[in-house]
Amino acid sequence: MTWTRAPSGQFPLDRTERASRPNPPMTVAFNVPRLVGPELEYLAEALANRHLSGGGPFTQRCERWLADRLGVARVLLTHSCTAALEMAALLAGLEPGDEVIMPSFTFVSTANAVVLRGAVPVFVDIRPDTLNLDEALIEAAITPRTRAICVVHYAGVACEMDAIMAIAARHGLLVIEDAAQALGATFRDRPLGGIGHMAALSFHETKNVMSGEGGALILRDPALVERAEILWQKGTDRLRFDRGEVSKYTWVDVGSSFLPSEIIAAVLWAQLGAMEAITAHRLALWDAYAEALAPLERDGLLCGPRPPAAHRHNAHIHHVLLNDAARRAEVLADLRRAGVHAVSHYVPLHDSPAGRRFARSAGPMRRTEDIAARLVRLPLHGDMTREDVANVVRTLAAAVRPDAVAEA
Ligand SMILES: *Cc1c(COP(=O)(O)O)cnc(C)c1O
Repeated sequence: MTWTRAPSGQFPLDRTERASRPNPPMTVAFNVPRLVGPELEYLAEALANRHLSGGGPFTQRCERWLADRLGVARVLLTHSCTAALEMAALLAGLEPGDEVIMPSFTFVSTANAVVLRGAVPVFVDIRPDTLNLDEALIEAAITPRTRAICVVHYAGVACEMDAIMAIAARHGLLVIEDAAQALGATFRDRPLGGIGHMAALSFHETKNVMSGEGGALILRDPALVERAEILWQKGTDRLRFDRGEVSKYTWVDVGSSFLPSEIIAAVLWAQLGAMEAITAHRLALWDAYAEALAPLERDGLLCGPRPPAAHRHNAHIHHVLLNDAARRAEVLADLRRAGVHAVSHYVPLHDSPAGRRFARSAGPMRRTEDIAARLVRLPLHGDMTREDVANVVRTLAAAVRPDAVAEA
């Protein structure tokens, strides 16, 4: 077997203890999905259960665990965060012409879920410190057609949820958290994903806790649970039938196939059990980056992330902002030649072909445009050690120092 397995959920921070790696020495991959230990055992158990479709024992375990952690009424596992966002848009009752306020600095799924209902994403600029929706700009974007605010906790750093929930309450709007990157992070002491009326999580293999593909719809509001269960079960009351509440199940509403298989849920159950270890390891690497990058920041060569101290982030991303957007392609190519796989991130949605067609902006998008053009995400994953971090920063330093000749 060539994949990496952490013996009993260990995440070595130093190279000596490490198992073999899928990438050759002297290269640092951007992401390597890390297995935490019991995945194969749980997969064998799922196969032995002879229940491979959705909604079986592993699915129920994951849902209950997440509902407890987040302190919410109900969690439904989905096959992706994209699916959970689409369910949220259905539950919000969006109609053609309705508007949903969201950042332009996000993944396409946040906007697609709204557009698929015939509704219009309305983009608002981001804050320079958190790269999240600027709550001070939300009220100016509200119109009689506004139905919801969809916030995105970029890099697992919290949006200003108290202010946002207060605005929503004043205007009778729903708040949907795109918490794809935010499991394990908090706003003050409250878990992200458990604050808005609904939230969507992702377990894609690029996220901290992963099952390859996977997601979850989080329902804080108990009033949303009954309809959510029906949408989830293809528009039928199948779950009520399974619980013995009705004698047969039938088509009662719209819906689709949103469930992941028990195979996915078995892998997710293994990963959820290691969530604290995964987060602690990533935070240690994140802190190592912050320390190693400090001299470059002091010399004014780049700028690191500034997550507010009041909240706990989950080290989903460590990024830097270069001074000069025009040099980014060259810096990324220099890193790549030295074996370091760093990447840019979102092309702002307002500036994309589909964004121009389906959405509109409320006010200028200057910070979104500026930050999106200068941002570089550094490698950060469960197979990395502090030595990898030091290598990445050394390579980056050579690439950004004006007097340095980039070395291969
Ligand atoms: C990853 C991500 C998604 C999509 O997640 P999938 O599970 O791949 O559908 C949506 N929104 C944000 C902000 C993401 O980071």
